[in-house]
Amino acid sequence: MGEIEKELRWAVAALRPVLSWEEALARVGMGVEVWHHPEPGVEWPMTLPPEDCALPPLMDWSGGVRRLVEAACREWYPWLEPGTVPALEWPPRGSLEDSGQWDYADPDECAEHGDERSVGCAECEGLRDEVQAVVHSPAVWSWHVNVLAASSGDSSGTAESWLLGTTEFDPREVEYCLVHDGDSGALLVTTVSRVVAEEADRRRRLGDDLDPPEPQGR
Ligand SMILES: [Zn+2]
Repeated sequence: MGEIEKELRWAVAALRPVLSWEEALARVGMGVEVWHHPEPGVEWPMTLPPEDCALPPLMDWSGGVRRLVEAACREWYPWLEPGTVPALEWPPRGSLEDSGQWDYADPDECAEHGDERSVGCAECEGLRDEVQAVVHSPAVWSWHVNVLAASSGDSSGTAESWLLGTTEFDPREVEYCLVHDGDSGALLVTTVSRVVAEEADRRRRLGDDLDPPEPQGR
């Protein structure tokens, strides 16, 4: 793996959503039901598997990651003429590789009283009462981009899919929905993308750093 590609993996791993789908849909007033993975021990409620219902996290792909991908194209296509950038199918496509595992921890126990809380026992009183969630494995999104690079004299070229990297999430953060394919899904994505771009701009103006660092070594 080239140096730029390593930076790209790192930058993609560090990306966080600008908005949740729930927030974004509320802002555009679209009444689409979004849900999270069922509680541990509760069966997945759909016939479609989780990866087919998962909504790709709403990242801001407008800035640094795109510059890194353009730089990585130099490593992927060493024959590219200087100054040319291949056509990128942007933004990258997200696939849920793993929906992750989480559970509730057993309640804290007192050495003497177990999980019965005894009034007047200092150890019992020091124990947490709220149930702790434990993430056993994260949810993993992978991100691919199609690149159409044609060598000089050959304008046909075929698009190739490149893995940019993966992003890990708390499994409880993954959002699911039934209507993100087909025409209604396309409308949903277009509408939501606009809100996400606006929110990313707003945050940049407030000084939030949404971009990974500039690629080194060019
Ligand atoms: Zn006790």
